[in-house]
Amino acid sequence: MIKEFPIDTYQRIEYFIRHEQEGLYLTIPFTMPFGMESLALKYTYARRDRDEMDVPQGIFTSRPEINIIDLGLIAPDGTLVGASGSDKTSIYVSETSATPGYRPTKLVLGEWRILVGAYKVALEGVAVSYELDMIGKRQRLLKGDLHVHTLASDGVLTVAELAQHARRHGLDFLAITDHNQMAQTDALPDIPDFTLIPGIEWTHFKGHATFTGVDQPYDGSFAANTPEEVAARFTSARDRGALITIAHPFDESCPFRFDMNSLPFDCLEIWNGPMRVSNLQALGYWHSLLVAGKKIPVCGGSDYHRSQLFLFPGGPTTCVYAESAGVSDILEALRQGHVYIVYAPDGPVLELRAGEDNIMGDSVSFPTISELQIEVKGLRTGDVLQVITAQGSTPLLTAATDGDFEGTYTMTAPGFARVEILREFIPGVPMLPALISNPIYFDAEVD
Ligand SMILES: [Zn+2]
Ligand SMILES: [Zn+2]
Repeated sequence: MIKEFPIDTYQRIEYFIRHEQEGLYLTIPFTMPFGMESLALKYTYARRDRDEMDVPQGIFTSRPEINIIDLGLIAPDGTLVGASGSDKTSIYVSETSATPGYRPTKLVLGEWRILVGAYKVALEGVAVSYELDMIGKRQRLLKGDLHVHTLASDGVLTVAELAQHARRHGLDFLAITDHNQMAQTDALPDIPDFTLIPGIEWTHFKGHATFTGVDQPYDGSFAANTPEEVAARFTSARDRGALITIAHPFDESCPFRFDMNSLPFDCLEIWNGPMRVSNLQALGYWHSLLVAGKKIPVCGGSDYHRSQLFLFPGGPTTCVYAESAGVSDILEALRQGHVYIVYAPDGPVLELRAGEDNIMGDSVSFPTISELQIEVKGLRTGDVLQVITAQGSTPLLTAATDGDFEGTYTMTAPGFARVEILREFIPGVPMLPALISNPIYFDAEVD
């Protein structure tokens, strides 16, 4: 639950450099406020002499550089984010991308510094004007795929090809999860408006799990022969901040046969590739955990290796309500369960709310709050929209035409409420989930 938006911040810093400071590296501190997503910095100064001379056929304007001021940026911990000499007059930094020469960097709260290289300063000195535009985070819907393979394991595309492919399919992020190694994710390409998340699919004869969001979830190899060694991999990944997802727990060929209760994990991949019996089993298992009072977020993953019928990046798509497009915010949204899963990137779009600001994954107090608000865009004729609680399913609508839905559902008991949209994908074949949401939890108030 968030709820106050960080405030966009603009700062202008006028900085005067005296001629005697020529040849020095100086720094100008500035405060990065809380919750910033991107920083744009530009600077101007009198760079060139504007002397004019009359020449026989006109006027000649001389343009020698009288001042040369270099630019760099330093993070609060002293790390150099980047440096660009005097060539670039503006730069951009966020957690996911940055001007070449600058490293994509999380804009943490604190004192940052502009690095000022006073390479050449005129006798009268030079006034440099810096403008800083800091844009705050905003909750937005991002679509992605948390489970794909490149040619570094048994896929056929490179990371860059896969990212372009995913972007064309309408995705905003992709976690690269090759089997048991991260050779491809050491240097992920910077792709505009697209977030690549480093990851690995820890692949064992007795079960698979994805560890995403960190460069190295554990030291040494993936291999583990005892329950202790298995637990050590998971614990290390958890300690290093990876999002741990149990992959395809009921898969026909590689189900998860370790004891889930004995291993730390954040998320269950209940929808792996095309909807089929093993996914419905995972959905049923998760539902039984919810009925038992557990709060476990679910996600999906295409497990894409190569394009085939029904196999494509974003099949299914995991849609997250994240505070920014940065890796840490996407993973945080997953941990919070601010997520629904849909069969394809262009499938229905869902918003669930309860009370003022609570969305899927959040907990509210029942009966003070008992109403679930539902908004769906992109229903197709025949789609069935249902709310599912511990007591059972309640159909709210069978869509008579293509269209959108807005409505409410009132809880009669504490517990959870989640939404599913069922669709007849192939005429005559039973309806299958087209969308599965995480619940809003209506916790009983204690007096
Ligand atoms: Zn797998
Ligand atoms: Zn896989």
